[in-house]
Amino acid sequence: MTLALSGHPVVRGIAVGQAHIIRRNELDIGEYRIKAGQADREIQRLMTALESARDYLDGLASRIRESAGGAAEEIIHTHIAMLSDDSLSESASMHIRDELCNAEWALQLYLEDLLSQLNRINDPYIRSRGEDAIQVVQMVQEILGEQQPLEPLAGVPDRLGKTLVIATELTPGELAALHERGVAGVVTEHGSPHSHTAILARNLGVPTVMGAHRAQTLVQEGEALVLDGHYGIVFASPEESIHKHYLRKQAESHRFIQSLESVREQPSRSLDEVDISLMANAERTEDMTLAMKSGALGIGLFRTEFMFLKGRPPDEDTQYRQLLAALDATDHAPMVVRTLDLGADKGADLLDFQSLRSNPNPALGLRAVRLCLRELEVFKTQLRAILRASAHGPISCLIPMLTSASEVITVRKLLAEAQEELQLRGQAFNAEMPLGGMIEVPAAALALDSLAQELDFLSIGTNDLIQYALATDRVDEQVAHLYDPQHPGVVNLLLQIFSATRTLSKPVSVCGELAGDRRFTRLLLGLGLTEFSMSPRNLLQVKQVICETDVSLARTSLQQWVSGAALEAEVSLVHYLDQGQSRHPSRAN
Ligand code: PEP
Ligand code: MG
Repeated sequence: MTLALSGHPVVRGIAVGQAHIIRRNELDIGEYRIKAGQADREIQRLMTALESARDYLDGLASRIRESAGGAAEEIIHTHIAMLSDDSLSESASMHIRDELCNAEWALQLYLEDLLSQLNRINDPYIRSRGEDAIQVVQMVQEILGEQQPLEPLAGVPDRLGKTLVIATELTPGELAALHERGVAGVVTEHGSPHSHTAILARNLGVPTVMGAHRAQTLVQEGEALVLDGHYGIVFASPEESIHKHYLRKQAESHRFIQSLESVREQPSRSLDEVDISLMANAERTEDMTLAMKSGALGIGLFRTEFMFLKGRPPDEDTQYRQLLAALDATDHAPMVVRTLDLGADKGADLLDFQSLRSNPNPALGLRAVRLCLRELEVFKTQLRAILRASAHGPISCLIPMLTSASEVITVRKLLAEAQEELQLRGQAFNAEMPLGGMIEVPAAALALDSLAQELDFLSIGTNDLIQYALATDRVDEQVAHLYDPQHPGVVNLLLQIFSATRTLSKPVSVCGELAGDRRFTRLLLGLGLTEFSMSPRNLLQVKQVICETDVSLARTSLQQWVSGAALEAEVSLVHYLDQGQSRHPSRAN
């Protein structure tokens, strides 16, 4: 019998295949293989974790001595002795070397051996040592878990073609790892369609449904699944008729994609001859190549945080080389490189900054430029890498989440220092590299004059702007229904931003998800936007709408809507804008 589960539609598209259920501990610890050449590094990881555990317990013992002392302190000393016992480190290292497994798993093997030895001894006191051993091993495993493993999702099968993964929730890093393994579709029990994981899923084109509650309990491992990313539905063990229906829909969507080919070679120009620049949001070489194939004029948003997905912060040379590779992949097209936007839902699986961990309200805390201005070494390393890359192509630098002009002034000072450092080293850079700022904090948007004076260009991050304007956490699925780009407050805010930018005469683009969603193309055109940056997968769809839009009619309809003249229309703003286009003479029949 067919079971239908519903969740949030995140990435349109249909996926058909078999379920693979990822349990949380499969993501967290689990067993995974390492290469022979990685054994020494893995043993080092183990040793460092053992040392951290000992340090922690030493500190705890002295604190307890002052307050309680006695039995509690004795237990802690027993644990310290276990951690210092050579048999633990030697046995776990042997497992790493012989079985080429990760440190967490090697500890598990050590623990299992030890417990079976202890269980053979007929002495309750000695057997009770088993509990101490479990606690000690778990503590070291937790410390290891907080470090970056060699490979995220190490326990998941290598090839996931024809597989739909069912997870509780996924971080961007985990999703990227699943995509590398060719996953056909993704279902999560939790997660919001506006989160960074969702954005990444759209960029990667992985059909995804989020917030399908209890999916892990209701679906069996290996069960046949059909995922409809448009409506946010997942069918388990679908009946023949459903299966056939979706095969037909897959063919239809294929035809739609083919129909877009007709606009590929057309200029991106509206019916009333307004030229619109289309840029791409891209971070991986594949996105860059796709962006160029789709006719993007360049990269309007390079989210650099995804360079940091695999563990420690990459050093300056590594970042520089990655930027050069990106320039090569785009044939040296214009590229807007955004500085690190860590924090909120991008952070947990990335860099381990103390300041990120103790953040009670991450979206409003030390995020993006705020964090960079705290972690100056990481930030300056990145600025030097971007500057060096700017000597090789038309690179601009973009600062995320600005709130006030003083932040830009500090960034400019750091940029000047970075330039001096490069000069001393004799390394080339573009001293005129444009510096732009993202407008995603409502107060910054409402005080655009002072901020814009310090900047060369502006980029509106609608994803965050909407979350902050509506006080609706973009990561919280429970308020996802309140995240409404057509809310009159949001529309008014956008109108204000565009009217301010007209007088400021600074280039302005939109790089949030709104720019790549064809439903909102006419709204953005009506606001006066002439530069869009979006996932390259959406570029042709948006271009098709642009080619079928009269911008001046879109503007008139938007004004009517805002002035209340359209109230009797009783349709949503975007529908009103669509209906407004039928008044164009070329459409009258
Ligand atoms: C935005 O907020 O619109 C944006 C593009 O930045 P991000 O989604 O990476 O926060
Ligand atoms: Mg943002």
